[in-house]
Amino acid sequence: MKPIEYRTIEHLRHLVGFASVSADSNLDLIAWLSDRFEALGARVFLDHDPSGTKANLFATLGPETTGGILLSGHTDVVPVTDQDWTSDPFDVIQRNDRLYGRGTCDMKGFIAACLAVAETIDAHTLTRPLHFAFTYDEEVGCLGARALVAVLRDKGLVPDITIIGEPTEMRIIEGHKGCCEYTAEFVGLEGHGSAPDLGVNAAEYATRYVTRLLELRQDLIERSPPDSPFDPPWSTINIGRISGGVAHNVIAGKAVVDWEMRPVQVSDLDFVKSVITRFCSTDLLPAMQAISPEASISVTTIGEVAGLVPMPQNAARDLVAKLTGTNGADLVAFSTEAGLFQAIGSDVVVCGPGSIRQAHKPDEYLEVDQLNACVAMLTALADHIS
Ligand SMILES: [Zn+2]
Repeated sequence: MKPIEYRTIEHLRHLVGFASVSADSNLDLIAWLSDRFEALGARVFLDHDPSGTKANLFATLGPETTGGILLSGHTDVVPVTDQDWTSDPFDVIQRNDRLYGRGTCDMKGFIAACLAVAETIDAHTLTRPLHFAFTYDEEVGCLGARALVAVLRDKGLVPDITIIGEPTEMRIIEGHKGCCEYTAEFVGLEGHGSAPDLGVNAAEYATRYVTRLLELRQDLIERSPPDSPFDPPWSTINIGRISGGVAHNVIAGKAVVDWEMRPVQVSDLDFVKSVITRFCSTDLLPAMQAISPEASISVTTIGEVAGLVPMPQNAARDLVAKLTGTNGADLVAFSTEAGLFQAIGSDVVVCGPGSIRQAHKPDEYLEVDQLNACVAMLTALADHIS
């Protein structure tokens, strides 16, 4: 093994040691990374969440010009609760060329490789900016990346190319659908079933809400891009659960609808949200509040991950193909932060070490060969822009 490969594993050991489960703070991990990137002369800023307990880190090496190349990964990991681990999940244990530990594959291995390669770069020789983004709350709806892309747009720091290092076994992934989940809660006014006009039936309003959503399915089919590679090729809506009311003869005071959307393009998500929000504010809510001013509809976003739309022109795909010597790019079923970066105008691919099959499981592991392949790819990238 090369020295840089040893250093990468050492960095991975440190990163896994921070139990940065999505529910908890990631600030210790971010501070550790921040110190290391500042020591390399990087321009670093943190972007905190509203609670102040989590932060994104953004670091840049090289010239202070626009564009550049961004390497992005999330710092949070899924919990280990109720999982049967052979070893301590927050320590890296190496057995048979596999590195075991929570987050080794999803996706601290990539972050460790980013740091190890950054340490080898002479920033003065870079011809383009090389950015690093390490985000919070990916596993719970990409909240960190969502906040970060808005900051990047405001600061004029939109990268030309973004590589998201989620585990793809180092294959180039140029597209995936999004996954957006919502819970809509209807609060009406209970009353006797014999006098429906005196109450506000939350179940009825929930039904009208669901009906409006289902009507949009046809619009989504018509809106689907002509050469959409997905199956099915359009954005889908699924009503996952409807609950509410207490008995046959009681006006339902409460109802809840859980639904999801899998958009093939960000504009479909915006379309569905704007139509259904307007329907609530101009049709449903006024009718409900005409009877009971306290009646309400509240929609909670459970998770909102935009898709990555495959593009005929994609500088990120062309670059990574050159760096890894591979041809062609694939689609995957899982969602990542990639679509958020695409939405601000960056060319994006997903390419990182490890297999998604090992993610989120007990005894999650990353193969040393995969980590080394990632280090090689990032080293080739640094050489390419030096
Ligand atoms: Zn991940």
